[in-house]
Formats: sequence, C-alpha cells, structure tokens
Amino acid sequence: MIPFGEMTTQFQTIEPEIRRAIDEVLASGWFILGKQVQAFEEEFAAYVGAKHAVGVGSGTEALHLALRAVGVGAGDEVVTVANTCVPTVSGIAFSGATPVLVDCHPSTLTMDPNRLHDAITTRTKAIVPVHLYGHPCDMAPILAVASRRGIPVIEDCAQAHGAEYRGARCGAFGAAAAFSFYPSKNLGAYGDGGAVVTNDPALAQTVRMLRNYGEERRYHHTIQGFNSRLDEMQAAILRVKLKHLDAWNEARCNRAAAYTRQLADVPLVLPAEASWAKAIYHLFVVRCDRRDALQEHLKRREIGTLIHYPIPIHLQKAYAHLGRSTGDYPVAETACQQVLSLPMYPELPDASITAIAQAIREFFG
Ligand SMILES: *Cc1c(COP(=O)(O)O)cnc(C)c1O
Repeated sequence: MIPFGEMTTQFQTIEPEIRRAIDEVLASGWFILGKQVQAFEEEFAAYVGAKHAVGVGSGTEALHLALRAVGVGAGDEVVTVANTCVPTVSGIAFSGATPVLVDCHPSTLTMDPNRLHDAITTRTKAIVPVHLYGHPCDMAPILAVASRRGIPVIEDCAQAHGAEYRGARCGAFGAAAAFSFYPSKNLGAYGDGGAVVTNDPALAQTVRMLRNYGEERRYHHTIQGFNSRLDEMQAAILRVKLKHLDAWNEARCNRAAAYTRQLADVPLVLPAEASWAKAIYHLFVVRCDRRDALQEHLKRREIGTLIHYPIPIHLQKAYAHLGRSTGDYPVAETACQQVLSLPMYPELPDASITAIAQAIREFFG
C-alpha cells in the first residue's frame, strides 16, 4: 500500500530535536508571544529574504490580517483565481471584501496575468496571486498591472515555502505575503500556524496589533483586533523544521524528476516548470482526460491520490452569491476535471515511484 501522504517517517528523523524544542517551551512556562515566536519570525523572514515576518494563527488568518493591514474592508473587491484552495477566499471574505475571480493559465494553472485587467474595477483594493502546488505565478506582469493601478499585491504562499521566481524566493514580491504552516505544507507545524511576511515595517506593526486584540502596548488598544497568534510550541517546532526545509524541498524536486522520467512515455500532462520558475512541488499534479477512472485504477492497486481541487470556487455553494456559473472560467473548470495529485513527500521511497509509474502505465495499456 502507498499512502498519498505520510508524516511519521519525517518525525522519526527529527524526533530528538523536536522533543528538545518542546521541552524547552514547557520548561520556560511561557506559551504565547515569547522568545520562540520572535526567533522564528526573524529566521523565517531571513529565509524568505524579507525584512519582517509576523506569526499568526493560520494561513487563512495571515491572508485576512494582511488584507486588513493594507486597508481592505467591507465593500472592497479582492481579485484572486477561480482554482485555489478555498481558504484563499475564506481569508478574503473574512476581511469583509468580495472575492473577484480570474481564470488561470493553461500551462501553470496559476493566475493568468492577461485576465487580470478585465477583473479590476475602481473597488479593487488588493490582488492575491496563489503560487499553486509550489509553482510560482508569473509575478512580473501581475506586479506591472498592480502598480499601474496602485493596487497592493498579497501573495498566497501557503504552498510555496522556498519556491523561486526569477531567482528570488516567493513572499517578498508584493506588499505582503501569507504563509500557512498547516501540517502537510512544505513547512508544517504540528497544529495550525501561519505568518505574514513583508518588507514594510508599518504593515508588520499593524499585523502585530491585529493578531493581538489591537494592542499597541500592554492595555493600550489603538485598533480593533483579533486573537490570531502563532504559539510558542508551534514556533519552536517550526524553528527545528525550517533548518531542514531546503533539503526537504530538494528531496521533493528529486522525486518530481523521477516521476517525470518514468512517466515520459505516458499520455498524461505532467507538471510543467516555467523557465523563470523554481517549483518546490508541494503537490505533484498530473492531468488526464480519464482522471476519475485513473484514480479508481490506482485505488484498486492501493495507491492513494487526491484531487486539488475538484470544484472551482465559483461553483462552490458557499460562493454562489458571487453570481458566476459554469463556463465563466473555462481553464480552471477543465483543470478541476483533469487534475490528479500523486503521492509526494520528501521521504517517498524510489520503489513507490516506480510502482506508481508502473500502475499508471498499466492503466494506459
Ligand atoms: C493551506 C492553504 C491555505 C490556508 O492555510 P490554513 O493554514 O489551513 O488556514 C490558503 N491558501 C492555500 C493555497 C492553501 O493551500
């Protein structure tokens, strides 16, 4: 049996470091907004190549607070893509704004910069490109449209810790970026967590206040805020795991290369890495016209797969009020019917990749 994902092998490789980090937090008697969060924020900002990181409760909250910090609120519009993980739009909705969707590019399945112009109105107050599956968006044309219109860009980096666009890591291209440390992400906590990354000290300070009841200094609340903090335990765990992130990303890339080699002669669309991209393969997503039958075939051979994502945002019941329907985002809609995520994690054994490739070849006869 080959599971879609598996976390215990990785835990075993870092178990002594993790236990030491957790013990240190327990012994300190300090659990919220202390030394671990502060140290992680500095280390993570340095990793991304940005000046500031602010630890928050989740990736959804990172989007929400970053949007609030750039002034987004009720009545505003925020542009993102139709094919993303639902929390991208949850974060936008949380800020009070209305999500406005654009279609994706047929090659990378990330935001199509050519569609952006038509989606922008006088009410557009932010653009949220999503570095989907760990492959960066084509940021230059997105940033060009945004700066021409004076609209801040908030990158959704939940699937892109360490991914690079033209040699620079994702997360420092726009006004701010939102990261998630959900356990299965490339950098995952053992619980929920997230971070807002930015080069703007005022924006970082606003997020620091928003995450902690709007407090500027103890008992002085200058804005209305929330409770959305990364906790000391998760920060200590993330500090251990951050040291391994590059090696784990490299291991994912090697596995992607192995899949690509072994599936070269099969009639599947394999993930294409753009010339300007360094992808970090949060997911390894193939496309197939007979996706459901292929998934069923692999299931019978005890190979776990998932679909990211089966339903585009505009066809979700929760977002029916956006007033969009089938046919509005044809590239995203087709992708939703064709995408299939194969097992992908740094410890995935070579033998499993060979067995998966073999089972896929069998499907195509
Ligand atoms: C996981 C994810 C999020 C949300 O992260 P949470 O930490 O679960 O709130 C947002 N956007 C994308 C693209 C994601 O994959």
